[in-house]
Amino acid sequence: MNERELLMIPGPVAFDPEVLRALSAPARSHVSPEFIQTFGNVLRQLREVCLAPSAQPFVISGSGTLAMEMAVGNLVEPGDHALVVNTGYFSDRMALILERHGAEVTHLRASLGESPDADQLKRAVSERRYKVVTITHVDTSTGVLAPVEALLGALRSSGALSIVDGVCATAGEAFHQDAWGADVYLTASQKAVGVPPGLALLTVSPRAMEAWRRRKSPVRAFYADFAEWLPIHEAYEAGKPSYFATPPVNLIAALDVSLRQILAEGMSQRFARHRRMGTAFRAGWAALGLELVPRSAVVAANTLSALYLPGGVDAALVGRIRAEGVVIAGGLHPEIKGRSFRIGHMNAVNASDVLAAVGAVERGLLASGHPVSPGAGISAVQRVLTDTPAR
Ligand code: PMP
Repeated sequence: MNERELLMIPGPVAFDPEVLRALSAPARSHVSPEFIQTFGNVLRQLREVCLAPSAQPFVISGSGTLAMEMAVGNLVEPGDHALVVNTGYFSDRMALILERHGAEVTHLRASLGESPDADQLKRAVSERRYKVVTITHVDTSTGVLAPVEALLGALRSSGALSIVDGVCATAGEAFHQDAWGADVYLTASQKAVGVPPGLALLTVSPRAMEAWRRRKSPVRAFYADFAEWLPIHEAYEAGKPSYFATPPVNLIAALDVSLRQILAEGMSQRFARHRRMGTAFRAGWAALGLELVPRSAVVAANTLSALYLPGGVDAALVGRIRAEGVVIAGGLHPEIKGRSFRIGHMNAVNASDVLAAVGAVERGLLASGHPVSPGAGISAVQRVLTDTPAR
């Protein structure tokens, strides 16, 4: 790969050099005082990033799918009812994991590009008692941003535990775990958290930890059981050595650096920057006549754009855009896989990235024989970035 290519897929994203240096530093012993301090810092910072001062954090070697399975495997027992607020491919994955752990799954689906709303969820949870309700904060296959604060509000009085998949959202899209009453927020390292793939991250509310303690049957997984990890995490946070399974010491050192950078920016500033960059991208796409998969701006994610290929342009567009120096992703959702493409915009995304990506899409479209006026997209982006209204 050309090192000057701009990586703009929905994860892994481009990583900060200081984060990458932490990865290449000599490995520490996982029971050394230095590593214990690093791990403790990571856990405290993760609570701050998720705005979850009361939560129990978990940082485990694995990808986002492990974080999903840890949440489900520790909270769900065979025969429990689970409701999946379904906005795409990763909601479907959550349902598969729930079923594997013995849950009876009901879907609350919206049509493609939309999200169920709070009223629909309120009705669904009044019809049956659910042990858990899952929400995908941003579904990476559709680019749909769920109205997560309203959805969590709608299920508050139902008593259901909420699991929010933040893999394509955490540290990019606004989320206030404690204030909004989410029981589990889960993510992975490789997207807006800004660390190469390999870490599953969860923050778990006291209520969910209590539900786990009150299980009637043992957790069926060994590696994913909170019972194995809770004492380790408590020890590290208390500054004491502990061992269950070897922690990925370099990734955790890199996470310490990235979380420090995220908190130095400030959560509200970070959410606002992602929103601003997302808005600039959407202005660029509209000016190029490209149609977003999300049906309205309120459900359009700020961390990625999922777009339909315009008429007459096939998926070879992705390769043409790469030839222009920007790596983007093809479609993922089975219904629109060959008809859509996706651009990630999270973590350190800035104005230059937006201009470079929209410019490369313009040139890729022209190379595909699609008529666009050169500069139309980037000019619309510049108007957003400079707060200059169209004349
Ligand atoms: N949930 C969402 C919303 C995702 O975008 C992804 C990954 N793209 C996952 C879960 C699964 O994460 P991983 O690929 O790290 O296992």
